[in-house]
Amino acid sequence: MIQKIKGFKDILPEDIGIWQKVESTAKSIFESFGFSEIRLPIIESSELFKRSIGENTDIVEKEMYTFADRNGGLITLRPEATASVVRSYIQNKMYAKDPERKLYTIGPMFRRERPQKGRYRQFYQINAEVFGIKSPLIDAQLILMLTNLFEKLEVKDVITHLNSLGCPGCRPDFRRALIDFFKPVSDELCKDCIRRIDKNPLRVLDCKSPSCKKAVENAPVITDYLCAECETHFIAVVDTLKKQNIPFKLNTRLVRGLDYYTRTTFEIQTSLLGAQSAVAGGGRYDGLVKVLGGPDQPAVGFAIGFDRLVEIMAVSQKQKESCIDIFIAALGEKSSTIAYRWICELNLSGIKAEMDFSGKSLKSQMRKAGKLNAMYVAIMGEVELNDGAVIVRDMKTKVQESIPIKKFIESVKDRKAA
Ligand code: AMP
Repeated sequence: MIQKIKGFKDILPEDIGIWQKVESTAKSIFESFGFSEIRLPIIESSELFKRSIGENTDIVEKEMYTFADRNGGLITLRPEATASVVRSYIQNKMYAKDPERKLYTIGPMFRRERPQKGRYRQFYQINAEVFGIKSPLIDAQLILMLTNLFEKLEVKDVITHLNSLGCPGCRPDFRRALIDFFKPVSDELCKDCIRRIDKNPLRVLDCKSPSCKKAVENAPVITDYLCAECETHFIAVVDTLKKQNIPFKLNTRLVRGLDYYTRTTFEIQTSLLGAQSAVAGGGRYDGLVKVLGGPDQPAVGFAIGFDRLVEIMAVSQKQKESCIDIFIAALGEKSSTIAYRWICELNLSGIKAEMDFSGKSLKSQMRKAGKLNAMYVAIMGEVELNDGAVIVRDMKTKVQESIPIKKFIESVKDRKAA
């Protein structure tokens, strides 16, 4: 049998409810905050990701699915969405009328990482990006929007970590200080981090290896190196979050795996998924639009790891299984014909109604209704048919009611609307 590829997965009908709930909740919140949806290609030219994410990042160095197109050009399955959103903002001159744009997009990303719980080679992200607004208020508002989504989804056990990564003006000093600090202790670092010292020393700060974690303890702290403008910006974000009672934790060790970030960076972390603690991450990337050939417009955004969010929702709240509104247990041919007409009419008016099509006994039909998590079951046998009434049982309270056949549809609709 042909199997799916390692690190890829099917999202099955029994799991889709939670995905749809997250998606509709996110869309409704984002739209209230003024965001519009954008849908983008999942393949882009490889150059786009190299230039934006950075040549010396794990993603570009070893995780991208890059291959030669038939004409020889290198193309890549997108490992993240921000670069594509920026490309589209520039290519479609979205800045022309008004540089301020708020966009969101939902879809699959591809990274050839080592698969494990919460880490896949095809995973889904929900991205929100704001262009053209420099104010720290928008950084805070994005974090508010993100935490509001988590609250609405009743996700607990998450903490928002916040840091600033400075700007191209002040970060080089911090970078140099890190290199000076790590060089003499390089033998305490893991193999990857020894390589990172010169290429990408910030990444050493969030290495998960115990020896690196220890070596990093006394490393320089970014907030001591911020220039006056970055500091003012950061303080304003922190103050705004505090005034709005948005909980967060300052984390000067938080860096991100992509090079384009400037100033505010944040990550929502959980302890529920073992090593894969980040459920969402984002921040400012003020230079990226220009780097990719657009106007000098600031930007800030985030990406939610959809798979991880779904997994922690399942852990933290044992989501109710999807249920149907009514199951019609019909006995005998005559009743089944009526039941069929009824379920079709109910289905057409948006009510989840099911019946049995294979002439099962009442007992096994009741079992099926239980499996489908039916809220109500209507029982219709010969006796009921002769009496001109169906028995409707509330599966939670177990209360039964006799409803005249003529009023059945109306009564189901009323129950649904109640
Ligand atoms: P990033 O684009 O690396 O900032 O990632 C944003 C979010 O996407 C992370 O916080 C994770 O929740 C999620 N994510 C990143 N890589 C993976 C992966 N390989 N599998 C599942 N989720 C991922």
